[in-house]
Amino acid sequence: MLNQKSLDRMAGVDPRLVAVIGAAAAICPLQFIVTEGVRSWDRQKMLFEAGKSQTMNSQHCKGRAVDIAVMIDGKADWTFANYRTVAQAVKAAALQLNVPVEWGGDWATFKDGPHFQLKGA
Ligand SMILES: [Zn+2]
Repeated sequence: MLNQKSLDRMAGVDPRLVAVIGAAAAICPLQFIVTEGVRSWDRQKMLFEAGKSQTMNSQHCKGRAVDIAVMIDGKADWTFANYRTVAQAVKAAALQLNVPVEWGGDWATFKDGPHFQLKGA
């Protein structure tokens, strides 16, 4: 189950993606929290200039992306394999709800394990 803070952080995010992330949390063997949903253009510019984002065309700014953090023993864990486990749950939930979702960990050039976004325009 997602905690209240995670739900709050998805305020303004496309409800289809919120539904997928919620359903994924219910079936995922690992616990995760949502760390970011909608992002302002100012914050995106700051992350881009700091090299922490690869694009100024971020789906976060359009309410079409969320970032998550895997929690193990109450602490954020950044082991990539654990994000693959979450991605499997997200993909299963996306398929069930018929919402096309893309995982940043599948990107060829810049693997973004914590990132999930709606596919297409
Ligand atoms: Zn992201």
